[in-house]
Order: sequence, then structure tokens, then C-alpha cells
Amino acid sequence: MTRHYNFCAGPAALPEAVLARARDELLDYRGHGLSVMEMSHRSPEYVAIAEQAERDLRELLAIPDNYRVLFTQGGATLQFAAVPYNLLGLGGRANFLHTGIWGKKAMAEARHLFGDAPVAASSEAGGHAAVPRQADIALTEDAAYLHYTANETIGGLEFDYIPEAVRPDGREVPLVCDMSSSILAGPLDVSRFGVIYAGAQKNIGPAGLVVVIVREDLLDRARADMPSLLGYRTLAEAASMVNTPATYSWYLAGLVFQWLKADIGGLAAMDAINSRKAERLYAAIDGSELYSNPIARRNRSRMNIPFVLADDRLDKPFLEEATAAGLLNLKGHRSVGGMRASLYNAVPEAAVEALIDFMADFEQRRG
Ligand code: PMP
Repeated sequence: MTRHYNFCAGPAALPEAVLARARDELLDYRGHGLSVMEMSHRSPEYVAIAEQAERDLRELLAIPDNYRVLFTQGGATLQFAAVPYNLLGLGGRANFLHTGIWGKKAMAEARHLFGDAPVAASSEAGGHAAVPRQADIALTEDAAYLHYTANETIGGLEFDYIPEAVRPDGREVPLVCDMSSSILAGPLDVSRFGVIYAGAQKNIGPAGLVVVIVREDLLDRARADMPSLLGYRTLAEAASMVNTPATYSWYLAGLVFQWLKADIGGLAAMDAINSRKAERLYAAIDGSELYSNPIARRNRSRMNIPFVLADDRLDKPFLEEATAAGLLNLKGHRSVGGMRASLYNAVPEAAVEALIDFMADFEQRRG
């Protein structure tokens, strides 16, 4: 068996220790005589797995008691609809920070469902090379909440601060954040947010699961015409078991949380590792004649590092040789081209070293 280094943006690498544990528990989960995949989600064994995962996530992120944690489905994309359904029941409009493709998709869905959704600030004019500053954010008088994308997975653009969501009348509105590609990369002050949501398939676990962290007082703002399965209150009251949840993904997410706690030592330790990995790769890019990254230094993503080659005729051999060297999934998103290395939590430092060595060698031979 050979496991290669996987730089995929998602579904992404999982910690090898987690996969090994899942393998060991696959056929007979801890003496229960069946796989987690085959368990009733209402059985005491499974409920214990689900509750432990929530406890571990709460501990990792120091989630305050007045927040509910939901384990739901439909990808982050369904949250593009769930958020406005849940938060626009008292009227007002959703406001958006537009910093790239995912934020734009979230905004498009809010508009598709409920009409206008004003842009409170945008980085589009500058090609999404730097996020708007706080001073540039202007909410509308009727803003019901402010939505932003902490880390734009395709552009490789990450907020270096948590925005304040204050209307012109001085009233603060809930801050909603799509954290799909940066949650658990380091410690987080959850109390600054109204809603945080994240698709699992990057830093949490396998695809099929979405984690939503919602402040309790926001559970009563939902529109009456909402599909019931999207309802945060409905999900919270049923402990995320309104219907059959993504049981195996939830279990694997729990194993990832335990890995973060026990093997890594928590999110402060993870944060330091992630900074080291990203700094090394950016230094290699900046120090080369062949590779470049266009993002302002303060907003360079630690999780998704896009780069282009000075001559795009070298893209194909770069990717072929990288794959042959066991460095997988470095192709950039189809909408932007070039390369992208995703360095999520489960991508080890050795993978980054191997990538840097390969890039230097390729530049020497072909650059
Ligand atoms: N938001 C962000 C920031 C993402 O990176 C992605 C997926 N790459 C999505 C939303 C969409 O997620 P899903 O495929 O789970 O709907």
C-alpha cells in the first residue's frame, strides 16, 4: 500500500490515523458486532458517538453554551438557502461581503429566493486580491445580517480579521460566516458570530455532512414558508436527527475531532503547524522565477494556495510529473486554471516539504 500526498481542495485529505482507526472499527465497532454504517441512528451506541463528536467540537472551538451545534446535510451550498430562510423571518435584507466565487454563489442564492441582497463591500474591482477593510463595509439600513466567506477556497483569499456587522443606525446585526475551508485551522472566537457553517469535506471529515453553529437567540427568526428540514430550531430540538443523518460522516468527523485533541494537541497547536506549512510554501513561490501568487500578503490563505507558472505551456508537464511523484490534485479550479495546493489540517508538513522540493527541481529542469 502506498498513500500519496493529497492536495485536493475537497473532498480533501483525512488524517491517516483517523482512517486507520476507522478501518480497525469497520466490521465490528467496539464489540457491538456491526459497523457504524449499519447502526440505527437512534441506537444508544450511535447516539453516544454523535454526542461525543459534539462535545469534542465544542471543546476544540470553545463554543459558548448559548450556541447550538447542528450536524446536517446538503453541503455548504444548501446553507446558502438555509441562512436566509432562517434569518429573514422578521424582514430586512441579507447583506454580503463579496470576495470571490463562493460568496457570490451564496449571494446569488439569497437573491434567487428573496430578491435583493445588497453588497456591503466587494473586492471584485481589485480582482479579489485583498479583502475589503472594515472601514469600507457599509451595511444597508435594513440589513438583517451580514454574510461573508472567511476563506475563499478557489481564490486563496482569507480574511485576516473578523468583520463587525453594524448598520448605519448603530445596531449590530448577526454575522454569518461560511467557514467551509478554514474551520478548525486554528482557535476561533465563536462569540463574534451569529451563524457559522461549514461543509465537512475539508477540515472536518468526509463529504455528506455540514456543521452549523448557531446562536440560540437566532432560532426564532425563520420564515414560515421554510422547508422544515432547513430549520435551525427544528434541527436543534431534534439533536440533528429530524430524519436520518449522515451517520458515518458524523462518526468520522468525531474521529477527526479526537485526532485534533489527542494527536495534535488542540487548535493552538494546529494553528502553529498550519502557519509553518503555508509560510514555507509561500516563501518557495515568492523566491522562484517560475511560480507566482497574486494575493496581498495579509490575505493569503493558509489553507488554499493557488499559484501560476510563468509559462502556462508548462502546466501539463508540471501536473503530470507531480502526479508521478505522488503529489496529487494540484490542478487549480477549472474556473481559474493554474495550480492550487490545499494545505488543510490533515496535510502533513512532510507533504509540503515534498511539494517544495518537487517545485524547485521542476524549475531547475524546465523553468
Ligand atoms: N463554500 C466554500 C468556501 C467552499 O469551499 C465550498 C466547496 N468547495 C462550498 C461553499 C460548497 O460546498 P458544498 O460542495 O459542500 O456545497
